[in-house]
Amino acid sequence: MSIKANVSKADYYEVLGVSREASDQELKSAYRKQALKHHPDRNPGDHAAEEKFKEASEAYQVLSDADKRAAYDRYGHAGVGNGGPGGFGGGFSGAVDLGDIFGDLFGEMFSMGGQQQQRAGRQRRGEDLRYDLAINFEDAIFGTETEVRIRRLEVCDTCKGSGSSSGRGPSTCPQCQGRGQIRYQQGFFSVARTCSACGGAGTIVTDPCGTCRGETRVTKEIKLKVKVPPGVEENTRIRYGGEGDAGRAGGPSGDLYIVLSIHKHDFFERDGYDLHCAVPISFPQAALGAEIEIPAVDGAVKVKVPEGTQSGKELRVRGRGVPHLNERGRGDLIVRVIVQIPKKLTREQRELVEQLSESMAVDNKPHSPGLLEKMKDLFS
Ligand SMILES: [Zn+2]
Ligand SMILES: [Zn+2]
Repeated sequence: MSIKANVSKADYYEVLGVSREASDQELKSAYRKQALKHHPDRNPGDHAAEEKFKEASEAYQVLSDADKRAAYDRYGHAGVGNGGPGGFGGGFSGAVDLGDIFGDLFGEMFSMGGQQQQRAGRQRRGEDLRYDLAINFEDAIFGTETEVRIRRLEVCDTCKGSGSSSGRGPSTCPQCQGRGQIRYQQGFFSVARTCSACGGAGTIVTDPCGTCRGETRVTKEIKLKVKVPPGVEENTRIRYGGEGDAGRAGGPSGDLYIVLSIHKHDFFERDGYDLHCAVPISFPQAALGAEIEIPAVDGAVKVKVPEGTQSGKELRVRGRGVPHLNERGRGDLIVRVIVQIPKKLTREQRELVEQLSESMAVDNKPHSPGLLEKMKDLFS
């Protein structure tokens, strides 16, 4: 296969997208990128990609050879004998060590997943599925069981997954003789192209099943019991192995992932395994100390407010938080008390506070805000 003489050729450096000063390593990685993107095996039937692949290969053949690169830099395409007919492929075979590049290149291509060639036949693992499940705040703390409906691909009942109405199953593809690929020579190496008759499967169903049209799987809705363990967090994933889409033609099933989101609570907030809430208390409660009762997630809890508690103080109730996921123990409940200053007083209250004021003189000397914070801590 040769490049025609009357086609004006693109600059080799531009083809690879590198500067004229590019190092050997830069050339190599630029070429790898181009070759991976445009390789015919990954772009079956795409003529433009094939041309780009050939261009990039040719450019790399020349620029990776110090002598040829020097000649090209000086004389352009004419300098490396590519100006005339029969340039490409007419003398570069074996000029560079292709194994060096294509050794890892092909390894990379076939480990990329998704669009892999199905060389081992038409069997394929089913897709993994994701199901988003929203649960209540309390259910996340104590666990729950619920039922979800999931649409997934299941093995076709009609043909028992064979894909054929007679149950005979697929037969060998006559075009590729079961190889799934057609190989042909391109320049200095041979290229495999996915067989168009069987789509690379190597087999063909001649009497497709009427229910699944030969696909071996059909979409169904199923019900699944989901057990949410205590202590789960936002975005916790629960994996159900083998509950995803059924595999194609008897391949293994994919997995199902239940991804949890947790509704907000009216007054509790979670921080890991701790629960936080804020509770208003009166000035006398703060000054004299008190026992207050608050509704925790698992029933009422008594919280002791010590004498002389400052507004904003956090009181910790051990073991009344969220149970640890999959292990023993629970986090804490943290109650932040906010001392309420009454906006309005009755006549009687006013008299009492006035009396209090007289016996509670405070020096109103200003402090820096930081120091005031420290003093609060000292008094708390
Ligand atoms: Zn079927
Ligand atoms: Zn075929």
